Amino acid sequence: MKGFQKGRKLEKIGLKAQDTAELFFEDVRLPASALLGEPNKGFYYLMNELPQERLVIAGMAVASCEFMFEETRSYVLQRKAFGKTIAHLQTVQHKLAELKTEICVARAFVDNCLQLHTEKRLDATSASMAKYWASDLQNRVATQCLQLHGGWGYMWEYPIAKAFVDSRVQPIYGGTNEIMKELIARNIVSQKLLEPLSSLNLRSRCLVPLPPFVPSLSDKKLEYSPYPTRSEQTPHLSACLFHP
Ligand SMILES: Cc1cc2nc3c(=O)[nH]c(=O)nc-3n(C[C@H](O)[C@H](O)[C@H](O)COP(=O)(O)OP(=O)(O)OC[C@H]3O[C@@H](n4cnc5c(N)ncnc54)[C@H](O)[C@@H]3O)c2cc1C
Repeated sequence: MKGFQKGRKLEKIGLKAQDTAELFFEDVRLPASALLGEPNKGFYYLMNELPQERLVIAGMAVASCEFMFEETRSYVLQRKAFGKTIAHLQTVQHKLAELKTEICVARAFVDNCLQLHTEKRLDATSASMAKYWASDLQNRVATQCLQLHGGWGYMWEYPIAKAFVDSRVQPIYGGTNEIMKELIARNIVSQKLLEPLSSLNLRSRCLVPLPPFVPSLSDKKLEYSPYPTRSEQTPHLSACLFHP
């Protein structure tokens, strides 16, 4: 096609199964029949889909965390050092406890965003929070899980090595996490977060708790709880439970 050029295949450090190249469009002319939507609205269409893209990245991040955790759990249960498995060491157990907790917290938030998305109620700020938090967590989990594999973690033959390098791009693409923080902060300082908080929907419970919604436990008249009730929890939450 005249005006269209494909760049060379880029040499990535991770995501090797996925080819990445730059695509160049210069004065490309198309027939009117090829038009999707209305003219001059391409940028708005793109903007509309960004929360969904960020949610996909957040979902991939949580799934990767869960995968890395399970790989690591299997590894520490079979790796023996000084006559017993390293899973017997309290420092290892505490690290697993920390990771599991953080992963479950991330899944709860991302599942909440997913539910809002299916109801067409996911806002751009929550999607940015999910992308930033889950992809940063993914990298913390990757580092810790690789560490628990010791030297084997540095070898390609162990899946944790691939998961480690694949994790690195997550805070970069889809808008860097620094840009996610810009977007989140922009809404905070413009007071927009205050609006959804007053509507007591699921989304509001994920956002920054503000004083009126952090009452004392002794307040019996309280109607609002910052925690979802059982009926509000998504089925995905059960995936967080530990299955020995
Ligand atoms: C594997 C891969 C796949 C990709 N796929 C796609 C794709 O399918 N489609 C697509 O369009 N793009 C794609 N990208 C591009 C990707 O979205 C960009 O690399 C990313 O948005 C960052 O932009 P940049 O590389 O220009 O970095 P820069 O904008 O140069 O950023 C460099 C650093 O400066 C920081 N920074 C920049 N501006 C600010 C600011 N205002 N405040 C604070 N910090 C700032 C950034 O956070 C970053 O740490 C892909 C990239 C990779 C690596």
